[in-house]
Amino acid sequence: MKTKRIFWQIFPNFLILIFIILSITTWLFANSLKNFYLDQTLLDLKNQAILIENQVAGKFSLDRADQLKELYNHLGIRTGTRITLILPNGKVIGDSMEDFKDMDNHANRPEIKEAGISGSGSSIRHSYTLHSRMMYVAIPVYENTELRGYIRTAKPIKSFNETLMAAYPGILIGSFLVAVFAAIISLFLSRRISLPIENIKKSAEAFAHGHLDKKISLTGPSEVVALADSLNLMAHRLQDRIDTILSQHNEQEAVLSSMVEGVLAIDNEERILRINHAACKLLSISAEGIKGRQIQEVIRKADILRFVRKALQSPAPVEAEILIHSLPETYFQAHGTSLTNAAQEKIGALIVLNDITRLRRLENVRRDFVANVSHELKTPITAIKGFVETLLDGAIENPEENRRFLTIVAKQIDRLTSIIQDLLQLSRIEQNEDKNGIQLKEQPLKEVLNASIQSRLALADDSSIQIDLQCPPDINAEIDGPLFEQAITNLIDNAIKYSNEKGRILVAAEATGDEVLITVQDWGIGIEQEHQSRLFERFYRVDKARSRKIGGTGLGLSIVKHIVNIHKGTVSLASQPGKGSSFTIHLPHP
Ligand code: ADP
Repeated sequence: MKTKRIFWQIFPNFLILIFIILSITTWLFANSLKNFYLDQTLLDLKNQAILIENQVAGKFSLDRADQLKELYNHLGIRTGTRITLILPNGKVIGDSMEDFKDMDNHANRPEIKEAGISGSGSSIRHSYTLHSRMMYVAIPVYENTELRGYIRTAKPIKSFNETLMAAYPGILIGSFLVAVFAAIISLFLSRRISLPIENIKKSAEAFAHGHLDKKISLTGPSEVVALADSLNLMAHRLQDRIDTILSQHNEQEAVLSSMVEGVLAIDNEERILRINHAACKLLSISAEGIKGRQIQEVIRKADILRFVRKALQSPAPVEAEILIHSLPETYFQAHGTSLTNAAQEKIGALIVLNDITRLRRLENVRRDFVANVSHELKTPITAIKGFVETLLDGAIENPEENRRFLTIVAKQIDRLTSIIQDLLQLSRIEQNEDKNGIQLKEQPLKEVLNASIQSRLALADDSSIQIDLQCPPDINAEIDGPLFEQAITNLIDNAIKYSNEKGRILVAAEATGDEVLITVQDWGIGIEQEHQSRLFERFYRVDKARSRKIGGTGLGLSIVKHIVNIHKGTVSLASQPGKGSSFTIHLPHP
């Protein structure tokens, strides 16, 4: 609906009001003026009639009409009044403006009738004799209480109407001037009333657009000032509320977005109310524009959708472990609880997702590890048991056989010992790591590498293998000396084990831009590409039989990897079957 501005509601009404007031006052004024004039004329005519009455009272008869004529003609001309003398029967015996002989009987004239009854009579009507509107006043004439006739005085009242008409333009001009003046004042008043309201309107519009810090100026009538004050207060309170809501919202957002758990709020129609960053990441979805959308449009994982439905239907909290089969496989621990409003009505469900993939993987690793260790230990123990039983069955009597068997038993025990030693070493490293017992210290690498080589020189000599060291003395690295020496020793061990007789091993160190590289290279049997990625797993061996024969446990490289991890480094491998292998440890430059 189109509404008018307040100014246009006030101003025209003011004008109409002024017009009505002026019209009524003008009409009332003209009317009372007219009444005054008529009353005055009536009184004049009556007085004149009374004055004439004394002069004509003794001569009131048709016989003395000529004497009377002189009298009323003289009086009539001087006063401008028509004087008519009428006998009680209505016959006219004299008239100052007409020949009375031509005049008809006047007994039925209203003023005569009224004078006969109440002592005086008056009437206003058109005179056909004089062709104008006249006022007639009649009084009776008595002589010694005997009614001798009537005196009637009359005056045209046309002259008054003309006077009034002549005054109208003046009245109209005056009214017009008053109207203009009143209109100017009403214009000024209307603006005075509407301006502060207009100002409030503008400020209220600014509030509606969110500019709540704007203040409405407190000017104008007291009601408007009170309204502006209330609006200012309202804006201030609103701003306070918005600030509180915003800071609560920000706190909630901060809590939700810093949570590692994925949080998902769904309404009863399965639309997403809230979702945090972690949930988007866990479910591999983009956070853009998903609020308010149906969950099945956004999340395609059937198990999750089934769980959400279950949480929406169940009045009690629900819990489940969900496996997502996509790559990589992911395990979720999901909790679902009802979302309720202030009236404790269910408005949806809150789902919390925990990624337990790492936990599951660790459990699997531990399970595999226990199985592997058992398996590794079982082989030498079975062998020992077999040979011991053979010895007990009588072979012990045969000196040649029992020596051979005992040698084998001793070898298996050595094998068990080295497996247990390696396992112990691994667990020691892990324990130290957990307790933060490993202190990295910047030191020259050359000494550490040299110590490793020295410890393996005897072993290398057995196979006539030469070990060379290329390490500038100024290369430093942040390391735990004994631990790092162990890693290099393991690599040299492997290089010796998987090299041919009279081979060569090179231990080298160099510093690049932001890394220190330590390489142990051999020109031995090399490793097939397919095995290279799994080589650092515990108990993984390319050729189990060969490894066992030469006393390998399958734990050497996993110890190396663990130690390098502690040093915040990585280990890489380049190898070609038949040509040799090169293991490189990358450490951050100190
Ligand atoms: P192992 O005690 O059997 O040597 P490691 O963990 O040290 O166990 O090594 C795992 C496997 O990696 C070995 O069984 C071997 O097959 C392979 N390997 C390790 N180092 C070398 C190397 N320098 N040359 C060839 N193969 C190697």
